[in-house]
Amino acid sequence: MVSTVPEFVSPDVMEVLLSKEQIAERVQAVGEQISAEYKGQSIVLIGVLKGAAIFLADLARAIKVDNTFDFVAVSSYGRARVSSGAVKLIKDIDNPIEGRHVILVEDILDTGLTLSYLRGLMLQHKPASLKIATCLDKPSRRLVPIEADYACFKIPNAFVIGYGMDYAERYRGVPDIRLYPDNPPAGH
Ligand code: 5GP
Repeated sequence: MVSTVPEFVSPDVMEVLLSKEQIAERVQAVGEQISAEYKGQSIVLIGVLKGAAIFLADLARAIKVDNTFDFVAVSSYGRARVSSGAVKLIKDIDNPIEGRHVILVEDILDTGLTLSYLRGLMLQHKPASLKIATCLDKPSRRLVPIEADYACFKIPNAFVIGYGMDYAERYRGVPDIRLYPDNPPAGH
């Protein structure tokens, strides 16, 4: 595969879609909702690397019930964003989840291919329950029928970066969520 590194565009010139204050407020609310729904139980949060790492870190701190973390990683089905549907697991969970209450934590629910693949895979481990939490949901992009149980924001079809989300691995540390100026960027 030929890969060219795109030129760096400063996040300062990118329009803010969701400020860090808006994000913090929604993540707190979703954390409270999860805490109420799982009261008295213990849960396993499974983050999808790398994009969900920052969301998981914030969500976990807003969840007041007993919880542990695990992480999975999947190979993207191709940067072209034309979905072949081929998602591959490149890092599995470290600890068994049989009989556990599991929440899969993702940065963006877009076509739905990644989460439906992961949901199928996790269900094979026979958890007591399995739910999905996503920071962003782009319902207009869905190719397979899957919905999040917890979604902080529904957004239109635009390519975003920040709050864990990258373009060519950059911008994950940008604290708010911004619109990438060349939208969608070349190659996506
Ligand atoms: P899905 O399988 O639902 O199409 O893919 C979800 C994954 O695609 C996300 O976890 C994320 O890695 C990537 N993705 C989808 N939309 C965007 C976007 O707007 N910005 C970024 N940075 N990644 C995206």
